[in-house]
Amino acid sequence: MMAADSHKGRTVLITGASAGLGEALADAYAAAGARLVLAARRTDLLDAVAERLRAGGADAIAVPMDVTDEASVRAAYDAAAERFGMIDTVVANAGINAQGTAIGLAEETFEAIVDVNLTGAFRTLREGGRRLLDAGPDVAARGRMLVIGSLGSLHALQGLVAYSASKAGAAMLARGLAREWARHGISVNAICPGYMLTDITRDWFETDAGKRAIERFPRRRLMPVAAVIPLALYLTSDVGGFVTGDVIKIDDAQMVG
Ligand code: NAD
Repeated sequence: MMAADSHKGRTVLITGASAGLGEALADAYAAAGARLVLAARRTDLLDAVAERLRAGGADAIAVPMDVTDEASVRAAYDAAAERFGMIDTVVANAGINAQGTAIGLAEETFEAIVDVNLTGAFRTLREGGRRLLDAGPDVAARGRMLVIGSLGSLHALQGLVAYSASKAGAAMLARGLAREWARHGISVNAICPGYMLTDITRDWFETDAGKRAIERFPRRRLMPVAAVIPLALYLTSDVGGFVTGDVIKIDDAQMVG
């Protein structure tokens, strides 16, 4: 576990922070002493999370950001910069999903998934990277970035062809940016969680087929979002910068071997 103040002095921007894993990450970064910029489309939910964190003593703001819109991404960074100055830590967590086999999948659905999960992560990280590089070498060297991938980054998940393709791309995005920005000291990694119970998966795991899928996991359970937190904190800490360009799976043995 990282020290309680491991992220003191860092400003962390998390996309998709209004629910699920993003909200859990926000809680963890607040506990680790970071300033927080919570970004998502639904500002009503975001405001409630930011208010809860502030009530707990954290310095947190909510900014509207749609990762499918570059202008919106830029505006969110601008709003964050006005309040906190430089953002040195970025977690590209926003993601969407749709079940369906390839033949029945509308092209618009495929594109929408890629637009959020892959291009959205690109827009989010590139804007953060651009600002870090513009700020000069000492600031850039503090840059820590994470992409939240999925088991779909590494395996072709059943009925999730668009999602898996987008998440495989997102993992390679992390590696590519890590390579491009390595010399500047910015680290970029992808964490690939197994199936967790959040808004993105809830409907599926409440179906009979979903329940059967859980029974097929070696440990017959879903993973808690909390399982992802320590690695996220480590990779975005000062010392975590020595790890870069990595794609790391945490899946409670759901796809072991
Ligand atoms: P979630 O649906 O609770 O959270 C997704 C978040 O992304 C929400 O806050 C949503 O508002 C936000 N979002 C969606 N589209 C957006 C957009 N265009 N702009 C800005 N924000 C947008 O689901 P979650 O499970 O917490 O998902 C978080 C991440 O974890 C996603 O990238 C997801 O693919 C990934 N993931 C989830 C699981 C799982 O089993 N739940 C497993 C592996 C990876």
